[in-house]
Amino acid sequence: MGLNIQSSFLTPNPYSRPGIRLKRVKGIVIHWVANPKSTAINNRHFFERRKAGKSGYGSAHYIVCLDGSIVQCLPETEMAYHVGSNSYTATALSRLSRYPNDCTIGIECCHTDWDGRMTPETWTATVKLAAQLLKRYGLTANDLWLHQEVVGWKDCHRWFVNNPAEWARFKREVADGIVDKPKRQEVVYLMSRYFKDIPQNLAWCKDHADSLYEKGVLKGDGKGNLNPTDPLTRAEAAVLIDRAIDYVLKEMK
Ligand SMILES: [Zn+2]
Repeated sequence: MGLNIQSSFLTPNPYSRPGIRLKRVKGIVIHWVANPKSTAINNRHFFERRKAGKSGYGSAHYIVCLDGSIVQCLPETEMAYHVGSNSYTATALSRLSRYPNDCTIGIECCHTDWDGRMTPETWTATVKLAAQLLKRYGLTANDLWLHQEVVGWKDCHRWFVNNPAEWARFKREVADGIVDKPKRQEVVYLMSRYFKDIPQNLAWCKDHADSLYEKGVLKGDGKGNLNPTDPLTRAEAAVLIDRAIDYVLKEMK
């Protein structure tokens, strides 16, 4: 399932869309919107209203809504004001830059309560978006950051700050999402190669043949006897290949 991303770019302005070119992307930063039950577009409009200059600086590239839809507020080539701070962690300074806004993409997550709980839709869409971005910039799940990990002091994303096991799970899911899943035709190709190389060793065949006999895939002589040197019938071969392919395809999902 693909992502539902709508662009609603902010009006260029000094407070939320300064028009500064982003340097090479080195990290993706995860935030919470700190406003339970507010939607992505609500928060996009909040960034937009900053252009009046009365509510400070702040924005992010993407906001993931409660229903898993996504609003993009700035092009990825432009800098957002999402991790600015008077000080940064030593790790952020060494792995990102002296001013991490200049080399990171910010993702805001909507949430349902003040603990920062997210709907399953928000969680899943954020995992997919983060995986997609990391892949696009040649990065790994190690390049995912919490706002807090960049600045050291802010409890953002609060849910992940207070539940480190959840943050670890989130990063594992993103890592899984970065890996390319093999395509159907690749599986069929691999299976055809696999079956071409079945060893002719009798002992090896006997173990496997016995186990397939117990599972009812191989028929034997109907009296509980299976001779490993008997020819395989077309029907048996078809069942074996079909089940193997089904199994691999199921594993790929
Ligand atoms: Zn934040």
